[in-house]
Amino acid sequence: MDTSVALNSLIQHLSCSNCGRTYSAFEPQTLSVCCSLPLAAAYDLSVNLSKHELVQREATMWRYREFLPVQHDEHIVSLGEGFTPILSLKNLANKYNLNKLLLKDEGQNPTGSFKARGLSMAISMAKQFGVEGCIIPTAGNAGVAMAAYCAKAGMRAVVVMPRHTPEAFKEECYWYGAEVVLVDGLINDCAAKAKELNAAGNLLDVSTLKEPYRLEGKKTMGYEIAEQLQWSLPDVILYPAGGGTGLIGIWKAFKELLALGWLDEDIKLPRMIAVQAANCQPLVETFFSRQPNAHRYHGKPTIANGLAVPRPIGEQMMLQVLQESYGTAIGITEEEMITGMQELGKQEGLFVAPEGAAIWMATRKMLQSGSIAASDSILLLNTGSGQKYMANVAGQYNYQKEA
Ligand SMILES: *Cc1c(COP(=O)(O)O)cnc(C)c1O
Ligand SMILES: [Zn+2]
Repeated sequence: MDTSVALNSLIQHLSCSNCGRTYSAFEPQTLSVCCSLPLAAAYDLSVNLSKHELVQREATMWRYREFLPVQHDEHIVSLGEGFTPILSLKNLANKYNLNKLLLKDEGQNPTGSFKARGLSMAISMAKQFGVEGCIIPTAGNAGVAMAAYCAKAGMRAVVVMPRHTPEAFKEECYWYGAEVVLVDGLINDCAAKAKELNAAGNLLDVSTLKEPYRLEGKKTMGYEIAEQLQWSLPDVILYPAGGGTGLIGIWKAFKELLALGWLDEDIKLPRMIAVQAANCQPLVETFFSRQPNAHRYHGKPTIANGLAVPRPIGEQMMLQVLQESYGTAIGITEEEMITGMQELGKQEGLFVAPEGAAIWMATRKMLQSGSIAASDSILLLNTGSGQKYMANVAGQYNYQKEA
């Protein structure tokens, strides 16, 4: 690449998200030994690097090479993930009299969801560490993404998903040559099964936040939002939160960009809104103090498969983002998601995942309640394409009344 700057990783170490104790970033890690909580990567952000260097770089998430953990380029396992477009939803903005309504379309990633970012990073790091195979408990999209990146890396892939997951997710894993294990229950039951299957420890478990690098892939959404909006930021970002890597990652990115001096030091950071499925809303319950934490929360399945995460290990980290950003959490019903899918389809030509529909419906509700103003600039983070969810929503457009 034609640039004066050395394009290598500036990673320094990992640190415990709870107590800050540091760990090596140059050997495989899982949860912190001190607190059994997620580790987060830290970089040398005092580097003298201009954001204008980015202009000439490739249109993938790897354009932020210095702030990603992979040591050597030969270990990068890429299918072209990231640098997805930010679309202006003018028709909906007109309909609801909104000043600015944007949607970052993560459905355009390889394998149809933003999980591609995290798994590209995790599998690249697995390759760096010489791992021969990976295992993942998943609600669907993460498993498909892992299967694809493992195929590209020549690694064995074992995907553990709920039996009720739409066929399209399972099928795609088979096409990538993965082994698929079906479990009765939700993702936490899959996690227990994965642990059992991997008792000998031959496979790397790339569960959400149990390995530190999916977060680094997901954080590139925050870098992109800033860069694509010419280093300004929206007033509010709505994100469909399951395990929460995107929410935590985007906020981490904004902090790194501030430390780098790439964002104006007195910029107003966006309010971060975590949107969940009413069928499984552990974060909403904890945020509004209806439970001390999600450790005993029981969720029901939802057509937004990615949101069926009853006991997220990153709960504290998510709550901290909501608190620091003056954000909130909100639950959306199954019926509302169908309405949202239909409205985004008909008005904007976007066939989004139910998770993406949920954030649009959350916007509508928050506009109505006054927690979002029509004058706010609003960014919806649509995390996936609707294609693989067809079985969940088949026929619904027939009898749903006009949104
Ligand atoms: C996994 C997933 C989510 C939730 O992402 P987290 O990082 O677990 O919060 C949201 N939407 C879709 C489409 C997903 O696949
Ligand atoms: Zn700790």
